[in-house]
Parts: sequence; C-alpha cells; structure tokens
Amino acid sequence: MTPSRPTLVLLYQRVGLPWLFDSAERAGIDLVLVPRPDEQVDPDRLPAAVVELLPLDVAADPSGALEALRKRHEAAPFDGIVTLYDPFVPFVAEAAELLGLPGIGPDVARSAQDKRVMRERLEAAGLNVPRFVRLDPSDDPAACVAAAGLTFPVVVKPALGMSSLGVTRADSPTTLGAVVAEVRRVSAGTADGGAGLIVEEYLDGPEFAVESLVHEGRVQILSIGFKGDPRGPYFEESVYQAPAELPEAVRADVVREVSAAHAALGVTFGPTHTELRLRGGTVPHLLEMGARIGGSGVSHYIAENVTGIDFAGQALRLAAGLPPTHTVEEGLTRPVAAAANYIVPCGGHGTITSVHGLDELRADPRVDHVVQMLVPGDVVRPYPDFTGYPAFVLSRHSDLAEAERFHAHLETAVRIDYAPTTSEENPS
Ligand code: ADP
Repeated sequence: MTPSRPTLVLLYQRVGLPWLFDSAERAGIDLVLVPRPDEQVDPDRLPAAVVELLPLDVAADPSGALEALRKRHEAAPFDGIVTLYDPFVPFVAEAAELLGLPGIGPDVARSAQDKRVMRERLEAAGLNVPRFVRLDPSDDPAACVAAAGLTFPVVVKPALGMSSLGVTRADSPTTLGAVVAEVRRVSAGTADGGAGLIVEEYLDGPEFAVESLVHEGRVQILSIGFKGDPRGPYFEESVYQAPAELPEAVRADVVREVSAAHAALGVTFGPTHTELRLRGGTVPHLLEMGARIGGSGVSHYIAENVTGIDFAGQALRLAAGLPPTHTVEEGLTRPVAAAANYIVPCGGHGTITSVHGLDELRADPRVDHVVQMLVPGDVVRPYPDFTGYPAFVLSRHSDLAEAERFHAHLETAVRIDYAPTTSEENPS
C-alpha cells in the first residue's frame, strides 16, 4: 500500500495567485481549500494541488467552522492547517491546537496580530519600540497621548488592522481628535469594529520587509527588502525591492532585532513576515510581525527568487508536521539574485475607465506575474477609505539597481484613468 500524501487545510487563499499552490504541488502536499467567500472558485479549474473544496464562513461563524473542521478531521484526518490571511492566523492556531496539529498556539498568534500586545511584548523584551498608548472608545485621545509622554507626530491605527487600513499620521494635539474619529470610522469593518486603537510615535526612516523561516526556534532570515519611505498621512504601499542595500552594521542590527522579536513574541515555528523602519535611518524598530507568509504569497515570490529556497514549500512542510528539506540556519541567507514587487498606485479616485501599460508588462521577460485586482468599471474611493490595490507587478532582476531602474520606468508606464463617480455609486 502506498503511504497517503500529506494533506493540509488551506484557508482563504485566492486561487488566482499561483505561488502557494505551485509550491504545494512541488512538495507533494495535497490541499483542502477553504475558498474566500468573495472569490468564485470553479471546481473544474482548481490548481493541481487542491483535492477538495471545503466552504466555511470563518468570519461569520468561527465556532461552526471549528466544529466543521473537527468533523472533517475525524472522518478523514489531515496533517495541518494553514493560512496567509492575517485576520485568521489566531483561528488557525486555535484549530491546530484543538485537533492536535502543528501550530504556534492561539496566544502567540494573538501577540503577532494585536498591535497592542505585540508592542507590550517587544518592550518587555527590551527591543526597540516607539512610545505608544492603547486607546479604548471611552478614552480621551489627547489626554492619553499626553499622559504617555508621546512626542508628535504620531500614528493612529486600529489594533487589529491590516493592509494599512485606517493607519493615519497626526501632526499635532489639535488634529488628534479628528484623526482618531476618522480612523474609527474607516476601520469599522476590522475584527473588533475598530474599537481598539493604538497611538504610537511616528518612526522616521526608510521601511523594510523581512521574510523568515523558523524551525525549532532557529530563525533563518531569507531576505530583507526595501519598502520605500512613505511619510503619510496615509500609508499606501508602493514598492518592494530585495535584497536591500544596507551598511553591514545596520544589516546586522536588523538581523538581531528581527531574530529577537521572534523570541519575544514566542514564534518558534513556521514562516513570518516582519515590517520595520530604520528610525533616524539606522535603528531598526518593528512595525509588525505576521506569523504567516506575507502579501498573499508575494513574500514567497521575493524570498524564493532572492535565495533560491522554496519558502512556501518549506513552510507548508512545517505546517504538515514534516521536517524542512532544507537546513534552517540561523542568521541571514546570502542572496543569489534580486526580485521586486511594484504595487500600482490608485493615483486618483472615481470609476476606472482604463488601466494603461499592463499588457506590455505581461510580455516583458523580467516580469513573471501581473496580478490585476481592479478593472475598468470598478469604483475607487478616495483615501482614507481603502478600495484595494489596482495591480502588482512581480519581476526578477540581476541586482537591486536594475530593479530600481525598472520601477522608475513603471512609474510612468502604468497609469489609470478615472471618470467622476456618480453619487449613487458613492453614497458617502
Ligand atoms: P497594517 O497591519 O494595517 O499594515 P502597520 O502597523 O503595518 O499596519 O502600518 C501600516 C504602514 O503604516 C506601515 O507599513 C508604515 O508605512 C506606516 N506606519 C505604521 N506605524 C508607523 C509608525 N509608528 N511610524 C511610521 N510609520 C508607521
């Protein structure tokens, strides 16, 4: 009898994004896909690794979803459960614990997701943290910020937010109240309805993303990539270029800070995606760490092309309780090439009439994927509301300078035209 193939339940991964599915296929892992409710999945055109669809509404009925997973596991046991969708990282950790599967545990999952808990744990471990304060609905923002001794400018954000939704800079005590009210309005759709906020000092300096793989507490940093230097008041994502060019001492500080943050938050297993800024240009301060592969798999694309290591394949093996096929060594992996992601900016708002430049990019040999999310007819609301990013362009390059030149070209090559939106389409 042939041994059965390892099987993972994969929550909320878009089938339109190929990376996870391709890595699972290469790793010989079968996937039971819980599709996103907002994506139409054709059962006849599933990625090869997907052997079953298991529709569950985790957001609306988490205990019902847990019970359905328990029943599915009882009927036909699976080896692990995994997601790249940040809001469900705690749910996945809880399900894994309930079913006796590999996982980080719900407490660690929450510490990597709730920005208040994360700041407290990093601070307790003596890591670099800007001054911060929690803000509950009944709190007076100006009084709390003054009592905590924060220096302006500050950044106000939902504690359970994602994708920069609602994250807003406030430059003075006089504008703070209005900014807090606006952040609450914009983040009403987050896990706690935008009730819990955090206010922290603005970290001036360039931003970086760090992709890591953790096995038995050893943190291997696969890549450090440059993420631009957004100044606010809203923080739209723009570029991701890896490997970043950094002075050796700063690079060593980033590696130390990110490795120590894993220990502080208790993440001893799996993939992570960390974002940080170099305060004053040199001192790494974490913005957040996600206990998952970042960017719906974009982090895998970057890490794999920078290092030659199949990041998602290794992460999926760990989630299935299998040892990695590659030795996870502490510290930073030597880059072998460069990779980049260009996030097409909305560049306006209204009803999209055309998106220029993407067809040419699909034919460009440097470009592996053009992932288009918004198309003509879609309505883009003005900031700070977040409609979504129009498109990603993922590309490979010989070195960072070439990736930078390519992105400079994209700034003019890709353009979106809008028509004013009628009031029925945009009632607010
Ligand atoms: P989210 O989880 O919603 O993406 P983040 O905490 O990662 O929230 O913040 C989103 C973006 O906002 C960051 O990538 C960064 O550009 C900016 N940002 C957040 N906090 C700060 C801060 N304290 N100082 C400067 N920029 C910040």
